[in-house]
Amino acid sequence: MQSLNAKTVQGQRPFTAQRPRAARGSVSVRAVAAPPKLITKRSEEIFKEAQELLPGGVNSPVRAFRSVGGGPIVFDRVKGAYCYDVDGNKYIDYVGSWGPAIVGHGNEEVNDALKAQIDKGTSFGAPCELENVLAKMVIDRVPSVEMVRFVSSGTEACLSVLRLMRAYTGREKIIKFTGCYHGHADSFLVKAGSGVITLGLPDSPGVPKSTAAATLTATYNNLESVKELFAANKGEIAGLILEPVVGNSGFIVPTKEFLQGLREICTAEGAVLCFDEVMTGFRIAKGCAQEYFGITPDLTTMGKVIGGGMPVGAYGGKKEIMKMVAPAGPMYQAGTLSGNPMAMTAGIKTLEILGRPGAYEHLEKVTKRLIDGIIAAAKEHGHEITGGNISGMFGFFFCKGPVSCFEDALAADTAKFARFHRAMLEEGVYLAPSQFEAGFTSLAHTEADVDATIAAARRVFARI
Ligand code: PMP
Repeated sequence: MQSLNAKTVQGQRPFTAQRPRAARGSVSVRAVAAPPKLITKRSEEIFKEAQELLPGGVNSPVRAFRSVGGGPIVFDRVKGAYCYDVDGNKYIDYVGSWGPAIVGHGNEEVNDALKAQIDKGTSFGAPCELENVLAKMVIDRVPSVEMVRFVSSGTEACLSVLRLMRAYTGREKIIKFTGCYHGHADSFLVKAGSGVITLGLPDSPGVPKSTAAATLTATYNNLESVKELFAANKGEIAGLILEPVVGNSGFIVPTKEFLQGLREICTAEGAVLCFDEVMTGFRIAKGCAQEYFGITPDLTTMGKVIGGGMPVGAYGGKKEIMKMVAPAGPMYQAGTLSGNPMAMTAGIKTLEILGRPGAYEHLEKVTKRLIDGIIAAAKEHGHEITGGNISGMFGFFFCKGPVSCFEDALAADTAKFARFHRAMLEEGVYLAPSQFEAGFTSLAHTEADVDATIAAARRVFARI
């Protein structure tokens, strides 16, 4: 057990005080140059026990830090732009619970709304007005959405939309892109990016061959690869799904022509175009990536931000298609906790805060400052790097670039990323534990947080 003294003192330290402090008046060269010592004794104990209780010690694979080495950090609490571990260490957090924490962790307005809702009940299993309120907010903001169905995760949203694309067109095949992740439904676990790459699993055992065979994969930012698949499978393709900005092979931006081309091909072929905005939704822009790029898909999946930290997913689109969903239509999909009042409350308050003037300007400002600073610091020390951001989503690869698809991303130096990741942890910065994940900022991140992160990165680039 960590001593109370260390826990109390370290837990209250501001970020900058985590680095070794030189004695006042007499700067010790050794103390300044040495990497900070990160004590993670309690994290190690808890994770060791977890490995006997949970597969791999976690409830979602990438949390296990397998691709960066070293044990995972076990969290005690989160607040604003920071997370605190069970050993009393404080970190500036650029994972944000993998995206939902866009207004900052433990936002007081969201917390107050949730506390008030607890007294009224956490789950009804019956209609409640909050569902209408959140639905109206989504329909109002997201260009493609005329009607929406709430579910409880991004995976559920994507697997539902898969069935809907097939139900609506009466066709079975779908197209996805190599390196894009759409949750863990069988049909999507084909060249699926993120956690699957991280663990080195090309596909997953347990996915029936027949299911995988109906999933065709194209290359991101490459319209020719899409045209070829449509030509070879004439009249058989139900729909095409993509991350409109990729986050699951690292951060990869589409060209506007690519998105426009997909829209035109799908329209011409009678296939459904689905933007998986589970990660980009309400993060890239108030009206999601589709508003940012000005391309309107037929269907959209959402998750993460829309639940404000509670488990929520959603899918929506044209009324004509959504009216296929039960009980309006024959395509079955249901959920015990779908649209539950706690989840709706957190989502409503989060979207309300994001709707205020200046929210997306703040995300863009701090995130651009962050990524520009990291890239400059890396280059100063002779490291190859490429990266960028849109609003509060960012990423970088340790390679020359440009990276415009998953195949390009594979050129990145993952061993260097692993060293960088561990060294940044030691400096009090919590980054996603994989080269193939995007990073996230929040409204709680300040320019001071960002500058401290860049300063930490500069020290780290000097020694990795
Ligand atoms: N789609 C995308 C684009 C995602 O990034 C994710 C999760 N990272 C999912 C779907 C699955 O969402 P969930 O983890 O909530 O099931």
